[in-house]
Amino acid sequence: MEEKRTGVILLAAGRGTRMHSKVQKQYMLLNGHPLLYYAAIAFEKSPAQDIILVTGEFEIEACRRDIAKKYGFNKIKRIIPGGAERYHSVYEGLKELKSIGYGEGDYVLIHDGARPLVDDGIIRRVMEDAYTYNACAAGMPSKDTIKQADRDGFAETTPDRRFLWNIQTPQGFSFPLIMAAYEKMMSCKEYQQGVTDDAMVAERMAGCRVKLTEGAYQNMKVTTPEDITIAEALLHSRLS
Ligand code: C5P
Repeated sequence: MEEKRTGVILLAAGRGTRMHSKVQKQYMLLNGHPLLYYAAIAFEKSPAQDIILVTGEFEIEACRRDIAKKYGFNKIKRIIPGGAERYHSVYEGLKELKSIGYGEGDYVLIHDGARPLVDDGIIRRVMEDAYTYNACAAGMPSKDTIKQADRDGFAETTPDRRFLWNIQTPQGFSFPLIMAAYEKMMSCKEYQQGVTDDAMVAERMAGCRVKLTEGAYQNMKVTTPEDITIAEALLHSRLS
């Protein structure tokens, strides 16, 4: 693969309220390791150079001790506090990359720390598409029929399933493109309405076409308690 400087923003500043657990979701143990460890090791072994870990302001020390130091991750260059919404956390990560010299000609991958099943194949496909198209998002064609509901809970329309994808992370971008898109979005509250991923920011703020890159059906986001059982089984099967 072509060598281009590529940073990673690894997000772990969510409160994980849907997990109903005392331990923060990203530090819950899955097969003996913290959830966040799995995504961190995937990027540590990838061709990307620098990882910015974004976590809750009161978890920075624990994160340094129990993840960065404990496992000896060399690519984790900074551990910084995130913000109230996911996009605030991403913006903090982008500013941190800028402060360590990221700019023209560089790239960034943005990944949810809550997706432990990301693997080297997905990361490399996203890197290639980011280098080629400047903006891309991992995803998979939807297996289910998706309906748009009206406010009363009735089906309003059924979009053609052939064109529907479930979007995942990592998402990959030219650094200056996504930085400019985020700066524009952060300048106006209205632009921030309903933003749930980074591809949306590139689409809305930079008018950019986002390539959909093949992810994997396994690349699930651990959100609710039953996801833990599924993720543990998938992680276990990957080892055997
Ligand atoms: O909330 P959601 O499931 O979309 O979160 C996806 C990822 O973004 C998780 O890894 C979570 O820790 C992270 N996040 C964050 N800062 C927030 C909210 C979510 O880093 N304020």
